[in-house]
Amino acid sequence: MPFRTLSPVLSTVPPKLRVTGIDCHVLLAPDYDARFTSSAQDSFVVVVHTDQGLSGIGECDANPWMAKACIEAPGTHTMGLSIRDLLIGSDPFDIGGFWRRAYLGSAMNGRRGMVIHALSAVEMALWDLCGKAVGRPVHALLGGATRDRITPYASLQPAGRRFEDYRDALVASAERAQALGFRAMKTEITMNGPYAHGGMRESWDRHTEVLAAVRKAIGPEVTLMVDVQYLWEDAATCLSVVRDWAEFDPWFLETPIWSDNLDEIARLVEEAPMPIAFGEWLSTRFEFAELMDRGRVQVAQPDVGRVGGIGEAKIVCEMAAARGRRIVPHCWKTGISISATAHLAFVADNCDFIEYLPPQLCHERLRRDVAAEELDLGPDGTIALPVRPGLGFEIDWDAVKRYTVA
Ligand SMILES: [Mg+2]
Repeated sequence: MPFRTLSPVLSTVPPKLRVTGIDCHVLLAPDYDARFTSSAQDSFVVVVHTDQGLSGIGECDANPWMAKACIEAPGTHTMGLSIRDLLIGSDPFDIGGFWRRAYLGSAMNGRRGMVIHALSAVEMALWDLCGKAVGRPVHALLGGATRDRITPYASLQPAGRRFEDYRDALVASAERAQALGFRAMKTEITMNGPYAHGGMRESWDRHTEVLAAVRKAIGPEVTLMVDVQYLWEDAATCLSVVRDWAEFDPWFLETPIWSDNLDEIARLVEEAPMPIAFGEWLSTRFEFAELMDRGRVQVAQPDVGRVGGIGEAKIVCEMAAARGRRIVPHCWKTGISISATAHLAFVADNCDFIEYLPPQLCHERLRRDVAAEELDLGPDGTIALPVRPGLGFEIDWDAVKRYTVA
């Protein structure tokens, strides 16, 4: 295939390894409720094994049963091959070669969406494995960190089903994040539309009221992003509301309309008084090229567990840099994905913030329990360069066992 893929950058000859197997874990919170809007109730974790006993771990953000099927399904013809069969026997250091073979060999099964999300978990595990095999952190294998601190933002968590409870929960969450030392945060304001919290149906004025309350609580110095989660059906309705939001100084407005409406998105970019962010659902550089060139968004949000993996996310960061656009990756999974996102941010200078929810702010137990990331929020609201080999997180196998259902 005539396009670029990434493999580890190494200064020494790597050990000779062969991939011998992959375990796919479907994780589910025992009290999960399919009517809830949070994808943190489940996870899909893969472990890639080698002939020398070394292994690597990856994760994706997609329905875990479907992701498992995407990897384990037997191939039936040359454009519908099995991802597992393509992986087994391969050299784990040839990550780019594997990705190309898997993308090409599974082309008739997807090229986008679920197959690429599943592939993201495998690719992530290979970076972790290679880092451990040579005793180096993944950011070093990605070409080396370009800075020694990155800035995380806290995603505020709502609660309740009444307007006052929803607003007050976000304000309380903002105050907790500020007390922990965060200098940036993102509030959702989604009391209507397809992602409405708890089935709420509130007016646009009340959305403005929530934003005003959160901004008032944190003061003018803290960076505040706003995620309305596909709230409006068209650019005109969105603009009629968000023109009044400039006074609250949102750093960006995330996914205000459906993400397939690229011409409507371009209109928002042109006319909204704040930058527009999209990209959490997209897979591959090709979808991001459309988002940036036709949708013209100022902020692209690749998710390492959806876009195709760490290498594909880095390529998206480079494409954004070439276009003068910013990166703020999406991440709503466990410490595995958070770690992968952080390593990416250390090698992408146009990445302004990473999404980071420390255990103190995280409602969902599954996400808290599965993996402890190496990252720590420093007193200045930044995170220091990870130093452990691979992705650096510590997996809790008891927790994985506890949540595994398939
Ligand atoms: Mg979002």
